[in-house]
Amino acid sequence: MIYGEKSVERPIRWAMVGGGKGSQIGYIHRSAALRDFCFELVAGAFDIDPERGREFGKNLHVDEERCYPDYNTMFLQESRRKDGIEAVSIATPNNTHFEICKAALNAGLHVICEKPLCFTYAEAQELEALAQKQNRMVGITYGYSGHQAIEEARQLIADNALGDIRIVNMQFAHGFHNVALESQAASTKWRVDPKFAGPSYVLGDVGTHPLYLSEIMLPKLKIKRLLCTRQSFVKSRAPLEDNAMTLMEYDTGAVGTLWSSCVNCGSMHGQKIRVIGEKASLEWWDEQPNQLRFEVQGEPVQILERGMGYLHPSALIEDRIGAGHPEGLFEAWSNLYRRFAKAIVAKEQGKDIDFWYPDIHAGVAGVRWVEKCVESANLGGVWVDY
Ligand code: NAD
Repeated sequence: MIYGEKSVERPIRWAMVGGGKGSQIGYIHRSAALRDFCFELVAGAFDIDPERGREFGKNLHVDEERCYPDYNTMFLQESRRKDGIEAVSIATPNNTHFEICKAALNAGLHVICEKPLCFTYAEAQELEALAQKQNRMVGITYGYSGHQAIEEARQLIADNALGDIRIVNMQFAHGFHNVALESQAASTKWRVDPKFAGPSYVLGDVGTHPLYLSEIMLPKLKIKRLLCTRQSFVKSRAPLEDNAMTLMEYDTGAVGTLWSSCVNCGSMHGQKIRVIGEKASLEWWDEQPNQLRFEVQGEPVQILERGMGYLHPSALIEDRIGAGHPEGLFEAWSNLYRRFAKAIVAKEQGKDIDFWYPDIHAGVAGVRWVEKCVESANLGGVWVDY
């Protein structure tokens, strides 16, 4: 149970690149980082527009002199201060992640980066090698993975409660972009432009989230080959897809499907994972995150509720309120930021950690999966080896 007591000796001096006023994801980064006193927001290059970024930073109680016009200036100026930043979060459009992440690691900073980590597998491997060389923590914000139900699912599978895993059925399919909203919304506009979004839209934007859930729940399953087909139902989005279906074969003989979409009309969010074993299945849906379905063949369905004593101990340690009240996206993100902070301290002290978090390898895995999906789809939807 988390009571808000310190989990690191002192708050880590932290900055943001992006996440400015009006951005979609900036607030949740700040809310999660600041919630448990693990981080302290002391600087930022919050906006592509320096003046707007400065005004916004001031409104966040950041000293005016530490509201920078761009990230390069921030990294340089902060490196000259005794009380300079130690970690930075990157919440900018996809095309900037590689350069900013590289610059931050070269400046000796720990990094929390939005997904996708970058555009290509080669770039991702470069960042992975750089993080290792610099001995810095890189965390990726696959937000819902920090929800306690995900840890419970992971433990149930590890206990063999499902038996051998046969099928993994995943989706992140919402309906908010069923029409060309990009003509009015800036944060949708860059998502459908390859210059800013990269080689894919929905595969990278939403598909990588349940992919990571599967990786964390099923660490033994390795993709052997995959087949992907992608569509641009709103024609102007081509060559980027607004819908994609991916079929995967794992080296254990299990199979998986992952539906990524923003044209699933009527769906509010639609991130789901269903893991099917030889004797039971489990299912989790982000719109009802506190309930994990556990279905043993031939028995009544069990709904495992977050916060209840029958869960695995590791699925209870990050509860912030007992069972009954819902915990959701904000709590899951706070759990991740708390783990990032603890991982940073462990890195600094050369200690091992006894918990998991979406790290640089998760970022690399997501980029690789998108690259393989695009390769398969562009070849006309053929099997490609992984
Ligand atoms: P957005 O367009 O709403 O906001 C982007 C912000 O970055 C703006 O404030 C903009 O001014 C700023 N910016 C752009 N270029 C910059 C630069 N060079 N330097 C400083 N600031 C800059 O975008 P968004 O929807 O918030 O998405 C940002 C990132 O977060 C994307 O990579 C996206 O994939 C990711 N995202 C992740 C989740 C998640 O659940 N993890 C959810 C939404 C978005």
